[in-house]
Amino acid sequence: MHDLPSTAQAVVIGGGVIGISTAYHLAAQGWTDVVVLERDRLTSGTTWHAAGLIASAGMSSETLSWIFRHSLDLYQRLEAETGVSTGFHRCGHLHLATTKARREAQRREMNFMRLMGHDKHEISPAEVADMFPMVSTEGLLSAIWTPEDGRTNPVDVTMAMAAGARKRGVRIIEGCPVDDIIVENDRVRGVVTPQGTIRADHVVLAAGMWSRQIGAKIGVSVPLQAMEHYYLLTEPMAGVHRDLPVVEDPESYAYVREEGGGLLFGFFEPHGAPWMPKSVPADASFSTLPPDWDRMTPHLEHAFRRFPAMQTAGLKSFFCGPESFTPDGGFLVGESTEVAGFYLGTGLNSLGILSGGGVGALLAEQIVHGNASQDMTGLAPARMATHESVRHYLLDRLPDALSYIFNDASLPNAKHKSARGIRRLPLHDRYAAKVPISFRFPAGRCPTGSHLMAPNPRSGPSLGGKTGSTFPPPSTGQPATRSGCSTRPLWENSSFRGGMRKRC
Ligand SMILES: Cc1cc2nc3c(=O)[nH]c(=O)nc-3n(C[C@H](O)[C@H](O)[C@H](O)COP(=O)(O)OP(=O)(O)OC[C@H]3O[C@@H](n4cnc5c(N)ncnc54)[C@H](O)[C@@H]3O)c2cc1C
Repeated sequence: MHDLPSTAQAVVIGGGVIGISTAYHLAAQGWTDVVVLERDRLTSGTTWHAAGLIASAGMSSETLSWIFRHSLDLYQRLEAETGVSTGFHRCGHLHLATTKARREAQRREMNFMRLMGHDKHEISPAEVADMFPMVSTEGLLSAIWTPEDGRTNPVDVTMAMAAGARKRGVRIIEGCPVDDIIVENDRVRGVVTPQGTIRADHVVLAAGMWSRQIGAKIGVSVPLQAMEHYYLLTEPMAGVHRDLPVVEDPESYAYVREEGGGLLFGFFEPHGAPWMPKSVPADASFSTLPPDWDRMTPHLEHAFRRFPAMQTAGLKSFFCGPESFTPDGGFLVGESTEVAGFYLGTGLNSLGILSGGGVGALLAEQIVHGNASQDMTGLAPARMATHESVRHYLLDRLPDALSYIFNDASLPNAKHKSARGIRRLPLHDRYAAKVPISFRFPAGRCPTGSHLMAPNPRSGPSLGGKTGSTFPPPSTGQPATRSGCSTRPLWENSSFRGGMRKRC
């Protein structure tokens, strides 16, 4: 039993990487009267089993790039500040291209990321094989090499930030679930736990895959769903050492890094499987799910063609754990639209470790100053429509979420193929009749989104007389200029929302 304070400036619900990072940054910005309430133990949700990749591929908007950079820098300096190591290891990152479209997308992303200050280079298949000999170069066109990326230990990252937060006065209370949230006149006023009530005008929901059901208690829509997420661990293998780079191959939906002298081999497979769609059990801690070999074997076989050494490697374990994903692949970070003072820091789409530092920093800025230093529209809960929290919508869309994030999202004109037709433009039938083959409606919420303006120029007519890609031609060498670069991911482009804050 803990002695709970009766009031606090802010209460954070959840002691995973996001909740702890938010508390750390609130304290760093001067709010030290902060309480973190963790249902069980720190990291016992999803954080404990993350693979720890710290890879910048796909962080291709100004905001995401900032989030990544802040996390990377923080994880490297936390030990000096707190005495607790994060386990960050700068082994570099290779992002493979095996199709022309991927190579083109990677070159655009590389140019944009260079503009944002990231060190990235295109390298040849032979150079890839030099750096990571276990990869097959058959059909490999190139790769983007990022020497400053690496990997970390997610539990250590969280504990290091917790130590930093405690040093500044934050109270972190484990074994204390939040049972209810107090709302008065559409404004949050505190939380209720079995050990007492804390009055607070700022409450942060950072409860990972539990966030949807906690938000629903007070009518806050939190569109996310826990999905199965897998990695294999092999026995030690010849030639595998700690300095091997992290490798990601979007076309085989797989990533690889060294672990204990063997390989950690992870997947973002197409047609993923939701976990506990009705409600995540309140007592699910350190969850390990039984692997679905029948579903996963074809994906494994496909991925092993790019990494043939895996075919003969000794298997140590096939791990499956739940992680929450959102319908558009974007995070949910910012004040809720329904309840003032109630903030979301959740829906991390398997990028929560590499983004944790930056997400917590921006959320803390919003809470303390009313505004963040970066453009938050692409992350704001306000971009989502309420139907996106409905279970049957999530179950239709979310099986595509893993592969969309890992593979499709960074390709020009990427579109979701599932959960379509929920909302239509008044002129839908007229458009569809006019451009039946080439036209694809955007799945987002922006009726004037880029897809309306940029149908495939080779396969049909376009609207408004515009054809072709809105992207400039790719270049391999020179950094892009700011005006010549449009690398915002789909979710960054679709921040328009029909809903309005209830209290407005
Ligand atoms: C197999 C796998 C591999 C991954 N690999 C990577 C990777 O390489 N890189 C990367 O960046 N990300 C990776 N991730 C994703 C990453 O682990 C998550 O994005 C991140 O841990 C999410 O953190 P969180 O704080 O949002 O959630 P969580 O870690 O789940 O924290 C939420 C906390 O809230 C608590 N809680 C819930 N309900 C209540 C309540 N009522 N009251 C109080 N507390 C409550 C829970 O106990 C939990 O501790 C991976 C995920 C998986 C599953």
